[in-house]
Amino acid sequence: MATNRTFTMLKPDATAAGNTGKIIDRMIDAGFAIKAMKWTQLSKTQAEAFYSVHAERPFYGELVEYMTSGPVVAMILEKDDAVASFRELIGATNPAEAAPGTIRADFAESISANAVHGSDSDDNALIEGRFYFSEREEA
Ligand code: UDP
Ligand code: MG
Repeated sequence: MATNRTFTMLKPDATAAGNTGKIIDRMIDAGFAIKAMKWTQLSKTQAEAFYSVHAERPFYGELVEYMTSGPVVAMILEKDDAVASFRELIGATNPAEAAPGTIRADFAESISANAVHGSDSDDNALIEGRFYFSEREEA
């Protein structure tokens, strides 16, 4: 069954640059409601587990190193058609290809340091949300 929730993380480049508030404002302005939120930092083991789907990709080691380099902000967000709507708001993985006005076009530094994560399916939104939050932590 399709759900109306997605999962996002503000990545270390976004927290380091002081863009946390600006990016969260974009999400709220786009109609997303915050259902859970946490400022934290991933260990190597945790980052490897979160991105295990990419374990065979050439950028996996660099991605894990980058994602452990500073704080992240994990959030569960709610909106109709949340997963697709949020992917549209953040733009393409590579900021050079992200549509004007998207979060990645405006805040990402590079294809790896690209400001935000967005779940790619309802199933992964649930799995990724549960990686950070228990059921009782969701509003
Ligand atoms: N990534 C990277 N190099 C690449 C592709 C991806 O460093 O060539 C990183 C980037 O941070 C991206 C993450 O790996 O956000 C996960 O990749 P995915 O293809 O799932 O992109 P996304 O779903 O985040 O747009
Ligand atoms: Mg992805």
